[in-house]
Amino acid sequence: MSNKIWLSSPHMSDNHLEIDYINKAFDTNWIAPLGKNVDDFEKEICLYTGSKEAVALSSGTSAIHLGLKALGIKKGDKVACQSFTFSASANPILYEGATPIFVGSEEDTWNMSPALLEHALKENNDIKVVIVVNLYGISAKLDEIRSICNKYDVKLLEDAAESLGTFYKGKSTGLYGDVGIFSFNGNKIITTSGGGMLVTNSKEIRDKVQFWATQSREPYLHYEHEEVGYNYRLSNILAGVGIGQMKVLNDRVKRKRRIHELYSEEFKDVEVIKVHTAGPDDYANYWLTCLVFSSSDLRDKVLSYLKTYSIESRPLWKPMHLQPIFEEYAYYGEDVEVELFENGLCIPSDTKLSDKEIKFVAKKIKEVCNDGSNI
Ligand SMILES: *Cc1c(COP(=O)(O)O)cnc(C)c1O
Repeated sequence: MSNKIWLSSPHMSDNHLEIDYINKAFDTNWIAPLGKNVDDFEKEICLYTGSKEAVALSSGTSAIHLGLKALGIKKGDKVACQSFTFSASANPILYEGATPIFVGSEEDTWNMSPALLEHALKENNDIKVVIVVNLYGISAKLDEIRSICNKYDVKLLEDAAESLGTFYKGKSTGLYGDVGIFSFNGNKIITTSGGGMLVTNSKEIRDKVQFWATQSREPYLHYEHEEVGYNYRLSNILAGVGIGQMKVLNDRVKRKRRIHELYSEEFKDVEVIKVHTAGPDDYANYWLTCLVFSSSDLRDKVLSYLKTYSIESRPLWKPMHLQPIFEEYAYYGEDVEVELFENGLCIPSDTKLSDKEIKFVAKKIKEVCNDGSNI
């Protein structure tokens, strides 16, 4: 096998349906900035997730940014954020001059621990918004997190960038928050090359976010501005790619779940490996299959061995409270995610990989585990 095996890479539909929607944009000269594809992509997301409203934006990060603004975050406010995540969950807190407070993870879902969140909220009665993340496509305990937020009267922003297609207790992820966000970056379960979506049941939030995202133009003939504006809208061309990708989303989820199942079978008797698996309430999209090894030494050996076969693998997210940019901020946690960062690995979960290739990756990993000292 000479081709590189990727963690997760863009996978267009077999018939290239995406091109049809791009062509429609050309045919009608609806290339920029907005148009029918953007409206239709938003509608498709509402239909799929059950959200009342959606706004297509240029990235998941811009969706988090405007989501925080819509939930009232201003300079000096406190935002509780899951520590175990990609930095894009937390950076927008700093864009607004607000203060992050990091919350640790629980063992089973790897996401924000409800108990630790409650601890942080008890000690900081001025937290305004909580950002929870569904890492690697596995849900947090979203109902528990939601009811804690209700109890303490704080808003919830659900970073579902990695979990489109994941349903927790029968309800789409992204919908447990007052605001939810999805990402269509190149490595996500479906992609527009770059893009994001904000979902909410509030028409008021929807309208406000769209207004900010299109330069905060007041309704005058001339350009009148009373608020800071952003150029955050998704282009009509990319929205066309998104509509095409929505047609294959369920196929992608099925394939990711099958890949996870194949790995689970391959590693079921390997004592030094634990495959991260969703709980019974969670229909996970398994965006990336993740492993935890019995030691960081073994993890490192596996990573470099895979590399010699051009197989991409990567450590899990480095927790935000350990990042130099965020080290000055408070952390309420038990370092569960620190151990995961040290011992964990994301392995190839690309939907273009065949069963044979997945088994090849598993075989290479097992070679290291069965004879770790000699490689
Ligand atoms: C990818 C990702 C984002 C950011 O999305 P972009 O579309 O790349 O801006 C935010 N949060 C998490 C958890 C992500 O994985």
